Amino acid sequence: MSRSYFLPHIDRMAGYVPGEQPRDGVYIKLNTNENPYPPSPRVAPALAGAIDDRLRLYPDPMGTAFREAAARKHGVDPGMILAGNGSDDILTIITRAFAGPGDLIAYPTPSYILYKTLAELQDARVVEVPFRDNWELSADDFAVPGAKLTFLANPNSPSGTSLSPAQVGELARKIDGPLVVDEAYADFAESDCVGLVAEHPNVIVTRSFSKGYSLAGMRLGYLIAQRPMVEGLAKVKDSYNCDKLSLAAGVAAIEDQEYLAETRAKILATRTRLTKAARDLGYHVPESQANFVWCTGGPPASEIYQALKERKILVRLMRYPGLPDGLRITVGTDSEIDKLLENLVPLVKG
Ligand SMILES: *Cc1c(COP(=O)(O)O)cnc(C)c1O
Repeated sequence: MSRSYFLPHIDRMAGYVPGEQPRDGVYIKLNTNENPYPPSPRVAPALAGAIDDRLRLYPDPMGTAFREAAARKHGVDPGMILAGNGSDDILTIITRAFAGPGDLIAYPTPSYILYKTLAELQDARVVEVPFRDNWELSADDFAVPGAKLTFLANPNSPSGTSLSPAQVGELARKIDGPLVVDEAYADFAESDCVGLVAEHPNVIVTRSFSKGYSLAGMRLGYLIAQRPMVEGLAKVKDSYNCDKLSLAAGVAAIEDQEYLAETRAKILATRTRLTKAARDLGYHVPESQANFVWCTGGPPASEIYQALKERKILVRLMRYPGLPDGLRITVGTDSEIDKLLENLVPLVKG
């Protein structure tokens, strides 16, 4: 083999593999939890208004107008918000800030696979804490002694399940280090953990514009934490980590909570229908608090995934070591879910 120039821990790691993004538009895409509805109608005029001579200039490094808009939504101080180039950027900043070579990073499994990649980039060690039955986590399992950083996707992916704010508060008390509550799917959930930030200096809540706000193509996310936490993390981020256009889109989208409520209501109604249909087919489907459902226990998941793909429907085949494969299916529009079910029913019933 030719000589490698990479650091050994980079050579060893596999790298994160995102869900398929086919270049042709012929697929019904139910594999990466994008929102099937367009972004708020306020977004396009906000973008158009931001495209002018001022693009010569660097953007506001802290995204002040965006921080203020996000702070208004959550009823917190703007100094408690930090914007990122997608919530993945926020997760990267956090990992770089708290974990170095050999340090311990804890997260539940099965969950968001990026946490492992972020740990590997730092040459950190990971502790993967298995969920208990019914996707519960006990503080005794989860508070890993010595962990420099703990991640919790809530709602979780792939299960779609959520711990209550009271349960997360209990974890935050027991965990001796920063606890990242990754709320990429909170826009579809019954509750969220933003209220925990005021009393827990170690809690960092992260949010995304990719799912609830239909802006995956724009790349914007943010975190909510106490001011000293935000000030420390701001030192780690790239100087200009969010461009003017995504910040403008973010302000327009977050100020249109009415539109968010409308699209959310449609997705929740379709989620209920998809959950029931999948259960009627014999799948085990936990009650989802997100914009996808997790289906296990049917025919071999890899075969169903492949057969659906041949029929131009993409779902996500998820494989976790030691567990049966499953299908994570994004809640699309009603007509997309009708087409999915038309194809899935004969495949499962044979
Ligand atoms: C989609 C997702 C993200 C990433 O969101 P972006 O804002 O698009 O970077 C983070 N965490 C979880 C659990 C996700 O599913």
